[in-house]
Amino acid sequence: MYTLSGLTQKEFENITNELKASKFRARQIHNWIYLKSVSSIDEMTDLSVKFREELKKVAKVSDTKIKVKQVSSDGTIKYLLEYPDGECVETVLMRFDNRANLTACVSSQVGCAVNCSFCATGKRGFIRNLTYKEIIEQVLTIQRDTGLKVTNVVFMGQGEPLLNLDNVLKAMEIFNEDFQIGARRLTVSTSGIIPQINKLAELDMQSTLAISLHAPNHNIRKQLMQIEDKYNMTNLKKALKNYVDKTGRRITIEYLLIKDLNDTIDSAKELAQYLHDIKCNINLIPYNPTAENDYQRPSNNSIMKFKYLLEHSGKKVTVRLERGADIDAACGQLRGKID
Ligand code: SF4
Repeated sequence: MYTLSGLTQKEFENITNELKASKFRARQIHNWIYLKSVSSIDEMTDLSVKFREELKKVAKVSDTKIKVKQVSSDGTIKYLLEYPDGECVETVLMRFDNRANLTACVSSQVGCAVNCSFCATGKRGFIRNLTYKEIIEQVLTIQRDTGLKVTNVVFMGQGEPLLNLDNVLKAMEIFNEDFQIGARRLTVSTSGIIPQINKLAELDMQSTLAISLHAPNHNIRKQLMQIEDKYNMTNLKKALKNYVDKTGRRITIEYLLIKDLNDTIDSAKELAQYLHDIKCNINLIPYNPTAENDYQRPSNNSIMKFKYLLEHSGKKVTVRLERGADIDAACGQLRGKID
């Protein structure tokens, strides 16, 4: 039995060949899946009833279940999805006031081996990589459930995308070509896996690279992210400069602001110095407390001071609007399981 979600045009053609139907039928099925996000073959109303019956004998639309759906007071929706092997991941739909954009924050792995100290996902350890079909199924599920078209995809859910690079790249290709989401509306976020950043530099894609830096120096980063032992900030900087040189593209630096740990004036100055010769924007993310640790959110005053000091160094700085914190859908809060 084929699962239509996640197939390429060529694979749709293989099915229509098998059913002795034309390539045009394959294109129709493709559009129903990716552009109209139907939940069943019966909804593909420009296919004849006879052909739909034949298709139903060999194919179904999806094999992913929505196990839990939570809607935040700010409109953010968090889904816990279950794949056929019983493994679950979370995926989040974020809407921002005054903007037509609908952003899906997708997971790339079940669990994560990187184990950042602030992150709920890392506590589970690594379970397995997601296939590209399982990644894109997250966006299809959102589209089927809401009837809305996702306009942006960020790989900032559970898992380290660059440790599952082949599947992430294939999913990005499908988002771009089949979902018709512009490459510049796709963002891959990494904890700083240097060899893979170098690989992305060679690929010279139009998508955005976001780096979870979260610290102004080696010692603080080590407390937050074990990955600093393997890929330290000195070598990371070389990789980022190489990426900018090769692609000409501006990097996004993600910086989680944690009270009394990395939100001081000295940290802001040190961070500005570290980034002074890297073409980048900085996104400050006030920490969302979780039950797993004692980290606290800084005061609004500290956040604004930190922002001001970085802006003074000539960088464009944004403070990420908090989304979905009341349903544990904010950054670092995804767990991928039900307690
Ligand atoms: S923050 Fe990202 S890389 Fe770090 S443990 Fe969580 S999922 Fe993994």
